[in-house]
Amino acid sequence: AYYQQIGRAGRAVERAEVVLLPGHEDRDIWAYFASLAFPPEPLVRQTLAALSVRPISTAALETRVDLSRTRLEMLLKVLDSDGAANRVKGGWVGTGQPWVYDAERHRRIAEARAVEQRAMLDYLDTDECRLVFLRRQLDDTDPTPCGRCDVCAGQVWSSGVDNATAHAAEERISRPGVEVAPRKQWPGGMRELGVAVSGRIAAGELAEPGRVLGRLSDLGWGTRLRELVAGEDRPVPAEVLDACVRVLASWGWTQRPVGVVGISSRTRPHQLDHLARRIAEVGKLPLLGRLLPVGARPAAGANSAQRLAAVWGGFDPGSLPELTGLDGPVLLVDDVVDSGWTMTVAARSLRRAGAPAVLPFALAQAG
Ligand SMILES: [Zn+2]
Repeated sequence: AYYQQIGRAGRAVERAEVVLLPGHEDRDIWAYFASLAFPPEPLVRQTLAALSVRPISTAALETRVDLSRTRLEMLLKVLDSDGAANRVKGGWVGTGQPWVYDAERHRRIAEARAVEQRAMLDYLDTDECRLVFLRRQLDDTDPTPCGRCDVCAGQVWSSGVDNATAHAAEERISRPGVEVAPRKQWPGGMRELGVAVSGRIAAGELAEPGRVLGRLSDLGWGTRLRELVAGEDRPVPAEVLDACVRVLASWGWTQRPVGVVGISSRTRPHQLDHLARRIAEVGKLPLLGRLLPVGARPAAGANSAQRLAAVWGGFDPGSLPELTGLDGPVLLVDDVVDSGWTMTVAARSLRRAGAPAVLPFALAQAG
């Protein structure tokens, strides 16, 4: 791919410079793709066990097998071409044909990926001609130095940036606030998991569009937020709180919230309580209550159905404040929005308890 991209850069122009900007997030991207690899045998067996002569939809399969939609669809295609499953009207059926897990093949693929990643890192550090390195990767046994790359030409680019540019970039990426769209549709097949919801989320149970301070993957706030939500149960630092206030001030809501409800955390209860309390104080709003978790900490599901089932019924109904007669929106405060189902379920509870609208706010969005 590098070879191809370098060629593209020079197309249709007289002169082009190609600069490679490696980053730490490259490894995260590789890890992400590795996580989409062919599932381990137990999950494949579980999928096969869920298939019968009666067609089952992919959405319904998601309630039986904890795989993301992408991986599940990929797996079904493989099972289809191997003759163990068939796509029919209404979903998928099992053929009952025996199926062998080719562990050796999947191991070889994973190994080849690791070798490719190693090569990309070596490419950065090489002190031979970059083109020679690439051609060797492409099995050219006798490559000759190109005479034009940074190694051949001795061209060194400075990674220094002048202060004004650095300042402008810093200002741009540390501007807080990201909009988070509310969930509008329940996952299919929830009844299979004992959760009686389906189709569109009723208008009276919807959350409004929400805000987070930043994404955990952001350049600007990401590092601070990652440390904060993975660290100890400490109060939210003043600078983070200031940024939260700026996000709230620039929200542009149609009606200002009339109260704050916090979602209490199992792992960092003090941090969450402190955040909700401080936001209420700064906004001169009453803290209407805290939703307390009940039961065991839910396992992180891989798909929407599993995640919703995991957080469904996760709040102590006794901790739900009485909200009838409230004449404005409730600001719902949490630490991290991941799949969005916790906020969706909490907002639904608040709406059903009488909140005319719910504005979700969190420190961070995962991913
Ligand atoms: Zn060269």
